[in-house]
Amino acid sequence: MNQHRIPVCEPVIAERERYWVNKCLDDGWISGISPYVEDFENKFSEFSDSQYGVATNSGTTALHLALATLGVKKGDEVILPTFTMVATPNAVVYTGAKPVFIDAEPETWNINPEKIEEKITSKTKVIMPVHTYGHPADMRSVMEIADTRGIFVVEDAAEAHGAKYYGQKVGSFGEMGCFSFYANKIITTGEGGMITTNNEKLAERAKWLRAHAFGREGKHFWHEELGYGYRFSGLQAALGLAQLEQIETFIATRRRNAQLYNDIFTDMGLVSKGKITLPPEAYNVKNIYWMYSPLIEDNFGMSREELMNRLTAKGIETRTFFYPMHVQPMYAEDPSCYPVANSLAKRGINLPSTNNLSEEDVWYVAEAIVSAQRNV
Ligand SMILES: *Cc1c(COP(=O)(O)O)cnc(C)c1O
Repeated sequence: MNQHRIPVCEPVIAERERYWVNKCLDDGWISGISPYVEDFENKFSEFSDSQYGVATNSGTTALHLALATLGVKKGDEVILPTFTMVATPNAVVYTGAKPVFIDAEPETWNINPEKIEEKITSKTKVIMPVHTYGHPADMRSVMEIADTRGIFVVEDAAEAHGAKYYGQKVGSFGEMGCFSFYANKIITTGEGGMITTNNEKLAERAKWLRAHAFGREGKHFWHEELGYGYRFSGLQAALGLAQLEQIETFIATRRRNAQLYNDIFTDMGLVSKGKITLPPEAYNVKNIYWMYSPLIEDNFGMSREELMNRLTAKGIETRTFFYPMHVQPMYAEDPSCYPVANSLAKRGINLPSTNNLSEEDVWYVAEAIVSAQRNV
């Protein structure tokens, strides 16, 4: 048995987390009605260049709540990339609306703005770009289309806390941004999520719908609208406050490690020989590399699956890319309409990308890949 085990992505929990959670326990503010929740909402939305934050019990419920807050319902359509995680279209289906898929753009792997116009109909209510693996989507193009057509934008920023597009943090471009604090995301609260927005009315409405849409003005158990049980607990907020103190360090480590992976693969000739394609970072963005995700090309000498098996034998955990939504049983469509997403899904591999992954571990993983393609 190999003793060395390197996970793809796991939470880093230490003294600050213990301090904050214990403080919350001592104070007794553990429920969703807690100054810890407000503190976390304020600090995280400020970090994300937004004025308001509405914390929820997952990234998925943040997406659903954002759409519900905008009044998305049966008969509406929501445009989103096919190359994403299943929670994005699922949140659309929860409202009764229909998800409409767009292929990835080859450069950034995110929603291809050039393909959006042709899918807009009179039913289109929202465009939901996803900042996949930590790389921002082309928000100027998306916002221009949405503004011209009078369509809302909800950003799925579940993988991109702190990523920047022209110097501005993702989640602050559209009407609302949605984040996840699941255990493998950039910062975690175990489970959890947040909506960010600059619109006070939307923030208030989201907070009201988040907790059962209780009646106002004395009629507490009176409900004018369908609300949800999507509250985020004080204990989760305490964990989040501890994680948020460290987010800049986490992101810096991820970017250092991505650069190191890139340098090793480049120096070893894997890039110039067309064996590996490095993950993108467009000139106008800051990628936070939620996943360090190169493409394994045909020239590599062995299949992606064989490479993954070799890495597993050395204690290195990896993941394939997402299967695009248009091949999932629930959302199946003619796959020939989405060539870029199909190709990414076939070639991509997520390498270890934990917040505190050491340079030694990056070298260990990169050398295992270099030696695998030498020994084919
Ligand atoms: C993780 C993720 C979600 C869902 O977040 P949960 O907190 O797991 O519900 C949504 N969208 C994307 C793109 C994600 O990566």
